[in-house]
Amino acid sequence: MRKVAMGETGTLIVVIGLIGILLLVFMMPSRTRLWLYPLVRQAVQIKVNYETSHMAIYETEHFIVKYTPADADVVSMIGQAAEAAYQPVIETLQYAPPGKTLILIHPNKSELRQAFGWSGNESAMGVYWGGTIQLLSPHVWLNDGATVEKFIHSGPMVHEYTHLVFDYITNGNYPRWFTEGLAQYVEYRVNHYEWITTSNTLDGNMHSMVELDGQFDDLPNQSLAYRESLAAVRYIAEVYGEDKLLGVIMSLKTGNSLEKAISKNLGLDYTAFESAWQQWASMHMNTRVEK
Ligand SMILES: [Zn+2]
Repeated sequence: MRKVAMGETGTLIVVIGLIGILLLVFMMPSRTRLWLYPLVRQAVQIKVNYETSHMAIYETEHFIVKYTPADADVVSMIGQAAEAAYQPVIETLQYAPPGKTLILIHPNKSELRQAFGWSGNESAMGVYWGGTIQLLSPHVWLNDGATVEKFIHSGPMVHEYTHLVFDYITNGNYPRWFTEGLAQYVEYRVNHYEWITTSNTLDGNMHSMVELDGQFDDLPNQSLAYRESLAAVRYIAEVYGEDKLLGVIMSLKTGNSLEKAISKNLGLDYTAFESAWQQWASMHMNTRVEK
């Protein structure tokens, strides 16, 4: 695990340094960011790999899974789910990242939280950060005796791997909501999975683009923020076509803002885009699609 004990001053300084650099990189002009970002991502990967050198390793064709003894019995299932996610994700985004992707399995929620410096109630099955996928052990959230198919269908692999591939294509040039929308879109396409709650109906109370762009992680109704993100991406893919969605992604890759990428590919300014996807979503996404 990525332990950052208070006594390990050296490690702590490295961690703070890398996080600081990553934040600085986000504030840089996009052209500078585009070449610096992959270097910082690689440095984070080297650091994570070093810190987890004591963990056991399970390798598949495209992934290296690191795990503790508690997860020895589920590691092959995780490897299978990762490989099952590989093809649909790279086909949808038309890009395959170089080398093998590192997946870390955290045996419980507190270890996962610790790895990310979370203090509160954040709970996630998986997190993508800095070129690595970090998963919560399926022992914590999957019923005993569940099948590999169940894990592939309802697990986080397609979602997290989409975040990773998209991050490699665009080198960090995207707002948070868009990568969440895209990850859910690929999950929806591949696994027919949607995160639907009693409080994320897409009606008149949706957030504005300004809120999604500026404060996605701080919006109090996260399930609504996530569902809106899916709606905006589905709107692009289903109304304009997946080639236009890829066009938006390619525009981000070349350093354009999302606003510019949308106007270049859809011919809509941001305000028109906002009202168009919201109207579309309220008509097409409020009835449960049966799997
Ligand atoms: Zn996500």
